[in-house]
Amino acid sequence: MVDDCIFCKIVAGDIPSSKVYEDEEVLAFLDISQVTPGHTLVVPKKHARNLLEMDETTTAQLFARVSKVAQKVKAATQAPAMNIISNMEEIAGQTVFHTHVHIIPRYTDQDELTISFTEHEPNFEQLARLAGKIQNS
Ligand code: 5GP
Ligand code: ZN
Repeated sequence: MVDDCIFCKIVAGDIPSSKVYEDEEVLAFLDISQVTPGHTLVVPKKHARNLLEMDETTTAQLFARVSKVAQKVKAATQAPAMNIISNMEEIAGQTVFHTHVHIIPRYTDQDELTISFTEHEPNFEQLARLAGKIQNS
């Protein structure tokens, strides 16, 4: 438990939350700002800054629960679509520094969530070099 961490406080029950799922390792609760109805956060009970700081086993446990909770959210909301996102560090929009995965049901593409991928002409040489660098790191 990290003293000034809001999600550690939620896990400990010191701050109330709208719980949707809980087991020994993981807690899922509704995001207070509800980008869309049913917007849920899945967090590991053990504090870590974000996914980049977690080992493979803990991450695998977390994502097994993300899948389960996403299916529960879909069943409850009947949302036809969904985004699952985890922001890591400020540049990527992380504001709470305790690992969390957003489950965001989508009812229409005219809602308040915008994610866009700009297309670029592929440079295959560059792609091969970068892939090799990542493989070897
Ligand atoms: P981030 O921007 O770090 O990816 O997401 C943090 C999320 O935590 C935000 O969507 C914000 O609404 C949510 N949040 C912040 N404080 C609280 C809180 O006290 N309770 C709940 N349920 N959600 C919170
Ligand atoms: Zn924490």
